Amino acid sequence: MELIADLPLARFDTDRAAALRADSEWLSRVWSADNTRVLVLNEGNVPVTDDVSLIWVKPDAIDLAFEVVEQCAVLLGLDSNHTYVALVNDRASIDAVAWVSLRGIGAQLSARDVGLAIAAVAMNSWHSTHTYCPKCGNATVLTQAGWARRCEHDNSDHYPRTEPAMIAAVNDADDRILLGRRNEWPEGWFSTLAGFVEAGESVEACVVREVLEESGIQVSPSSLRYLGSQPWPFPASLMLGYRATAISTDIAREEAEMAEVRWYSKAEFEAACTDESLRLPNNSTIAFHLIQHWYGRPIPLEWTRK
Ligand SMILES: [Zn+2]
Repeated sequence: MELIADLPLARFDTDRAAALRADSEWLSRVWSADNTRVLVLNEGNVPVTDDVSLIWVKPDAIDLAFEVVEQCAVLLGLDSNHTYVALVNDRASIDAVAWVSLRGIGAQLSARDVGLAIAAVAMNSWHSTHTYCPKCGNATVLTQAGWARRCEHDNSDHYPRTEPAMIAAVNDADDRILLGRRNEWPEGWFSTLAGFVEAGESVEACVVREVLEESGIQVSPSSLRYLGSQPWPFPASLMLGYRATAISTDIAREEAEMAEVRWYSKAEFEAACTDESLRLPNNSTIAFHLIQHWYGRPIPLEWTRK
């Protein structure tokens, strides 16, 4: 089974320029260069134009002292035209047409923009919640071009964390798919089952455990097929996508989490999507692409949540 190509938030088109992160002078050079482009974030959202293009600005459009910029600038990467920098922690503002979440619009952006913006959102999420040292509780400072934080009190360095989560399209012997609706979701919203990998657990064990917990369905561990991953930094996940084959069919949902869990044949799936009793995650999600992979044909965007 081949990997799903070009998952929307997994696309990228620039050099992350990790070698530059050790250069403490990088920002003073880049901040005065004409080819620098800055992405300002606002509460984890990105600025876009009316036609959903990301808004990049030049440094001279940012009204902040350099000492402040030094503590909120993250080097995102570079290509042959530009150096790209994000400003985290809501320190800067610009007049944008709209502030939107990448969860909704990621699939509409270019590979360059989505690759840079998803890293910016992930780093913003980390910096905004890790301003103090986990060892001694003193305030930390931003270092390594924004890719680390340092505690000058006990000389410890801290790096962004990514939390792995599995998401699985479970099929039975009749090629039905298992979909569930979480308690907090409205009527009709269904998706593939997903859950966080626990400490000391493999992703494969997590797939088997989470599917069993949420649905009562047993999957065959040897049937697991890895289909790809994409970052989901809301706040810090990496979604690892799988196909899995069930070895049982009787559903016993986890009532504390799931309002409904059910099997859909392709005919039932088409009928429910067409009469709008089933609404799928939007096309920026890996869930959409796992379901489409099972369905075997392009899924119309009208079948997704608005
Ligand atoms: Zn410390």
